[in-house]
Amino acid sequence: MDAERLNARIRGSLTVLIDSADELRDLDQALGDGDLGITVSAGSAAVIAALEQLPPDATPVDIARASAKAFANANPSTMAALVAGALLAGSRVWADTTDVTIADAQAFAAAAAASIAQRGKTQVGDKTILDGLAAVADSLVDQNDADVALDAAIAAAANAVESTKDLQSRRGRASWLQERSIGIADPGATALQRFVESWKIAGQTTE
Ligand SMILES: [Mg+2]
Repeated sequence: MDAERLNARIRGSLTVLIDSADELRDLDQALGDGDLGITVSAGSAAVIAALEQLPPDATPVDIARASAKAFANANPSTMAALVAGALLAGSRVWADTTDVTIADAQAFAAAAAASIAQRGKTQVGDKTILDGLAAVADSLVDQNDADVALDAAIAAAANAVESTKDLQSRRGRASWLQERSIGIADPGATALQRFVESWKIAGQTTE
């Protein structure tokens, strides 16, 4: 996927993702402060606006960096800062990439997951977005067909969300609920699932 298509696909995906803002707000309200809806809707709108302003010769790295900056500046939330850091970490593994391959997407997801683990001081099983992101990164290993890879990523993200229902939240405000957090899907992991699903929907409608 070249930079121009990447830019359009991100904008298309985030336009779809904004439709999930109410669902994410409600989930986050059950486990935390409910700001995830606005983090996702305001952050997505800011990224779309920023990507529309990029020059035609912007590279995939430029696109990822601009997305990170816009997402972070749109919101003061911890989630926004973690996602922005993850996008920057992903952009660093792309270096001079001009065409984003499945392997590049895998490396990006793995670097993003490592960033969230480090900066969020969290690990898989803590019931956070990392549970989904690590599963998505794993699902993309050794894939060579874009459609198959995307379906694998969607299934991995959905399975991860399902698994978070049985877990107790160990990070952020949700951890204050202790065992009362069990039974509710993690909002961050759900946001990632909705994003990956949106990526597929955007590909069907814009390409
Ligand atoms: Mg929150």
